[in-house]
Formats: sequence, C-alpha cells, structure tokens
Amino acid sequence: MNYDVILIRYGELALKGKNRDQFEDALASSVKSVLRSFFKIKVRRSYGRMYVELHGEDAQAVMERLKRVFGISSFSPTIQVEQDADVIKEKALELIRQLQPEPKTFRVETRRADKRFPIGSMDMNRLVGTHILRNLPAIKVDVHQPETVVYIEIRAEGTYISCETIPGPGGLPVGSAGKVMLLLSGGIDSPVAGWMVMKRGVTLEAIHFHSPPFTSERSLEKVRDLAHKLTKWGGTIRLHVVPFTDIQTAIRERCPSDYLITIMRRFMMRISERIARENQALALATGESLGQVASQTLESMNTINDVVDIPILRPLIALDKTEITTISRRIDTYELSILPFEDCCTIFTPKNPVTRPKPYMAARFEEKLDVDAMVEDAINRTVVEEITSKPREAIHDLF
Ligand code: ATP
Ligand code: MG
Repeated sequence: MNYDVILIRYGELALKGKNRDQFEDALASSVKSVLRSFFKIKVRRSYGRMYVELHGEDAQAVMERLKRVFGISSFSPTIQVEQDADVIKEKALELIRQLQPEPKTFRVETRRADKRFPIGSMDMNRLVGTHILRNLPAIKVDVHQPETVVYIEIRAEGTYISCETIPGPGGLPVGSAGKVMLLLSGGIDSPVAGWMVMKRGVTLEAIHFHSPPFTSERSLEKVRDLAHKLTKWGGTIRLHVVPFTDIQTAIRERCPSDYLITIMRRFMMRISERIARENQALALATGESLGQVASQTLESMNTINDVVDIPILRPLIALDKTEITTISRRIDTYELSILPFEDCCTIFTPKNPVTRPKPYMAARFEEKLDVDAMVEDAINRTVVEEITSKPREAIHDLF
C-alpha cells in the first residue's frame, strides 16, 4: 500500500491555550528532528492533528521512528484522496484488503468535518460498509467490538482514510519541559534515567567524566554510543566530556580511602552544576537507585547534594535493578551497557567505602585539596561533542 501521510494523535492531557501551543511546537520539532536526517518528509498541523506527509518515503520505516517520539499517543498510516464518494469507497476497500492477518469483523467510522460534502457520516458508513461486505465475502460488520475500524475523515483539504492505529510511547514531547544535564556513565542505570526524564519532555545534555589512561578511549566510545541510543528518542544530545584524571589522582593521594567515592561524587556534582548553569539546564539527573550499592544510601546522597544548590533528579530512586534492566532492554541500551569496559568509579573503588558519609567529614578531608582551582581547571579542559541521531559505526567495528 502506498500511504500518503501518517496521522499523529496526541494530547493525552487536557491541554489548553498556551500550553497546548507549546506542546504542539515541541512535538512538531521532535518529529522533524527524529525524521529529517533520514527522510524527505513534511510535517503539517491542522486542527489538533499532526500529519507527516510522506512524499513517497516508506511508511513502515517512518513509523518505526515515530514509535520513539514522546508526546505521540498513537498514529495511523493513512491515505489521502479527493472528496469523492466512489474514490473513498474503493480506497477503503483496498486498505482493509491488504491487512495481515485478515480481520474477521469491521466497522466504518466517518467524520465529516467539512459539511459541504453532500453525504452525511451515517450514510457514508453504510455506503463504504456495504461496498466492503460485497467484495470481501468472509468479513462481517461488528459495531461494538470490531477487529478493525475503517476511519474516514472528510476535510476541506482532502479525505483521510486509515484502518490501523499504532500506539506511540506517550509522555510529553522533548523540548516542552526545559533542559536537564544527565550524568552519563557507561553503566545500565544512567541511560535509563536519561530516558525517563526525556519521556517527561526534558531536553537532555550529558556529562561524562573521563579518566585517561585509567579509562580507555573505548569506554568513552561506549558512552557516545549510549548517548546515540538516546538521540533516537529526542534528537541531538550535546555531550560534555570532562577530564577527571587529575582530580581522581589528587583525591586518592590526599584523602582517606573510605571517603574516596563520596569526595569524587562531590566533585562530579560541583562540576556538573557549573556546566548545567552555563548551558541553561535547570537540574542534574543521575542513575542512582536507593540501596543499590554501598554508596547509594540516603546519607550518601545528602553528603553529595550538600555541595550544590541545583536540584538533582534521581528518576530511578525507587526502582529495583530488574525493573531498570527491563527498561534498558526496551530502549536498547542494555547490550551496550554490559560491555565490560572499565569505568572511572570501578577503578577507584576502595574495598570499604563508607555507607553513611557525613558532610562535615567530607568537607574536612577536602580541606587538603584546592577544590575551586581543581573544578575550574576541569571545566576549562572540558570538550563538548554533538551526538546526532545519524548512524554511528558500531563500537565493535572501531577496534
Ligand atoms: P550506572 O549504571 O549509571 O553506571 P551505577 O549503578 O554504576 O550507575 P554508580 O557508579 O554509583 O552507579 O554511579 C551513580 C551515578 O553517578 C551514575 O548513575 C551516573 O549518573 C553518575 N556517574 C558515575 N560515574 C560517572 C561518570 N564517569 N561520568 C558521568 N556520570 C557518572
Ligand atoms: Mg556505573
């Protein structure tokens, strides 16, 4: 079937006035940014609907990508025909005929938005229904619970016919909720945390702390690949790569080993807060989950939060590892995340990290360090990369 447009439905919420405009603007640009690098399509809006005009592009391939655009509640591959009852009849039959598996029951639902069209919606339902019944002997009408509904929407600019409704991912369109700076490691958790805030409309930027030569170029490449997976849900992500070796080395030399992780995290937060503010991000996000590891206790989180004012979102806080893993498989980051590349935390993990660190203790140990200068230096040497949704070489091919 050659579809002409994909009809997009949204608005799970009762959106009104300015909110609605913002939501629609954000959704339209999300759709464009996810599709434009691959297809020559046009996005058109009219009366609370959005249409992707295909101009000959493959509907299946476009729809695969739309399944990842937050804010879409459902969509339908649709054909657009002239306002002519005979043409509508024929096309509706053609559409339902190619469905696999063949539906046993159907009903027709017409909406006549353009009242200049001479046939009423009930009459159209009957006309098209009869035509289908005559040509497909095995199918029956079921008005209450049909397997397939043939939707016909008669509008001034043309008539839209569709009979498949595919669920979208829901949520809110990326770009409708402000920006968040994600602390992205190479693990399972932080990509999931990023995905979860994106689902609520957040534009994401990411920060990665890189410690060469303790962490390799490969581990950084893995982080880029994870960020790339996330771009499929929200378009380009700016990745700030912070050189962290000097800070980690200094901490290890001058601070007690049970506080290494705590102090290291406090540095991550200080640097992230500065980068967030410089880039108009309103919050940080991490992949921490309560009790998952020794360093993820409430005491630890308090001691870490103590050095910054910016809100730190922890969307995974109450999820179990299995729940997080399920999401990471669904968003296709799992296989990458489990690749065994060293990460800056695993390398510096002491045998006995403190589980209940105290802010005043951490602060006292940090007196041995020139905190401000170290933060400043790391920020000055930070490199920003743009990770786009264009295909990347697979990590295995690079090495
Ligand atoms: P993940 O699976 O996300 O790596 P984790 O369970 O390994 O998380 P930790 O190593 O304790 O947990 O890290 C907690 C959080 O701190 C991570 O989820 C991430 O948000 C952030 N983080 C840790 N290491 C880095 C890093 N090298 N760069 C950026 N953020 C990091
Ligand atoms: Mg980790």
